[in-house]
Amino acid sequence: MKKLAEVLKDWEAVIGLEIHTELTALNTKMFCDCKLSHTDPPNTNVCPVCLGMPGALPVPNQKAIEAIVMAGLATNCKIQPRSYFYRKHYFYPDMSKNFQTTQGPVAFCMYGRLDLEVRGQGAMERPDFTIKKEVDGSYVAPIQILRIHMEEDAAKMVHVGGVDGRIASASKSLIDYNRCGAPLIELVTKPDLRTPEEARLFMEQLRQVFLTLGISDCSLEHGSMRCDGNVSVRRRGDHRLGTKTEIKNLNSFKSLHDALEYEIRRQAEVLEGGGIIRQETRHWEPSKRRTVTMRVKETADDYRMYPDPDLAPFDLSQAFVDYCRARVPELPAAKRDRYVAAYGLRHRDASQIAGDPTTAQFFENAARLAPESVATVANIVINMIPATERVTEAQVASLATLLSQDAITFAQAREVLELVDGTHKDPQTVVDEQGMRQSTDANALATTVDEVLARCADQVRQYGEGNKKVIGYLVGQCMKASKGTGNPKRFNQLLKERLEN
Ligand code: ADP
Ligand code: MG
Ligand code: ZN
Repeated sequence: MKKLAEVLKDWEAVIGLEIHTELTALNTKMFCDCKLSHTDPPNTNVCPVCLGMPGALPVPNQKAIEAIVMAGLATNCKIQPRSYFYRKHYFYPDMSKNFQTTQGPVAFCMYGRLDLEVRGQGAMERPDFTIKKEVDGSYVAPIQILRIHMEEDAAKMVHVGGVDGRIASASKSLIDYNRCGAPLIELVTKPDLRTPEEARLFMEQLRQVFLTLGISDCSLEHGSMRCDGNVSVRRRGDHRLGTKTEIKNLNSFKSLHDALEYEIRRQAEVLEGGGIIRQETRHWEPSKRRTVTMRVKETADDYRMYPDPDLAPFDLSQAFVDYCRARVPELPAAKRDRYVAAYGLRHRDASQIAGDPTTAQFFENAARLAPESVATVANIVINMIPATERVTEAQVASLATLLSQDAITFAQAREVLELVDGTHKDPQTVVDEQGMRQSTDANALATTVDEVLARCADQVRQYGEGNKKVIGYLVGQCMKASKGTGNPKRFNQLLKERLEN
């Protein structure tokens, strides 16, 4: 098969996503008061309602409605004043009442938009010029959201002895009804995405919004956020939609990206060979890095959808929507813009910090303690502290101050972080204890610089010929010669003075 970049010259990929998010932040299920838990022993959180016993009546969880309205407001959806719950009928043991309660044509949230930011390497995947790119190649693509609807999750099934978790090859299947009836929101996009990278970023940026709202832990690994990818291809310039396939089992950002890439290349190859694409559901096999047919869709599935007679039409008052709006916190995009404007952070760094609410909170607290060194705080947060480390905001603030005073180097800062990790020690004290403070003794530094220049005649000549980059090498030599005690910034200054004269 051809490479993706090659394929995308002739073909345009059209992608729409269906993203399920379980509202794990809630305490109870969607229509009963059973506890919501991923860790309790199987089938311990069940009752007549979520087991689908005849006659048991559902009671909607108000917290779940609040969460979906917040999700809708955060993605510019129109909140519907009246919407309905439907019954979607099917037979499978993961839903013992034989229908799933979900929403029909009118969902709580309709017609939204998420402005997708595409930067860096990923921005290069999109070869067409219908999109306005910035100088650095980045762009913003408005992705329309068709709807976000509320539904209940099905039970979790484990197919023992099967291949890739599929039932066909299993020797037996186990069911855990703890998940049955869990509150789930499904977001459906219009087919507005054009590359696998855009799809991946959409999922990532939506995840950041939902994390910031605090409605779910959004764990792809544990299945609280799940995605189906719909994809078709068409000749560039063609405005009709091609026949799509739907890919299931995309349980990581990488699977989502790689499965779409594979499927785009496969479809283009089939069409170039004169074949046709069947509308079907396909399964991503991560081990073989390919998609395979799961079931062919010849006719629309008939779920006998009708409004649930046990649940009245849902009227949302303006007061309720306003109440939800007041609970929507500052969202990642606004936070990012504020960091750029208020602290002068680089756009990319600001995005990275603003994307994760825990990191953002940590950064802001540390920045407040070191207002003179906010850019350095950001640098430490991004480059030095993986989430698992137990470093405090005060320690980061103190370290940032040391760095901006040139008292230590970045390499030393890493060491200091390791030394204070899990303790309440102040980095300033550690630096003094370890004798790390950098020599700012001008004479000592000058001697080192002269030594290095004397033995690096080659680089000195190159610098003279206009290759200014060799100064990096010379600074490195000075650092080595001073055994890391000299300050690289000062070395750089001194070297420049010498070389320019
Ligand atoms: P279905 O009835 O097969 O479920 P929908 O119209 O409900 O299809 O759309 C499901 C998802 O598929 C949406 O995200 C939508 O954007 C996407 N989609 C629809 N048609 C196409 C197409 N031709 N190519 C790619 N994606 C599509
Ligand atoms: Mg659909
Ligand atoms: Zn229950």
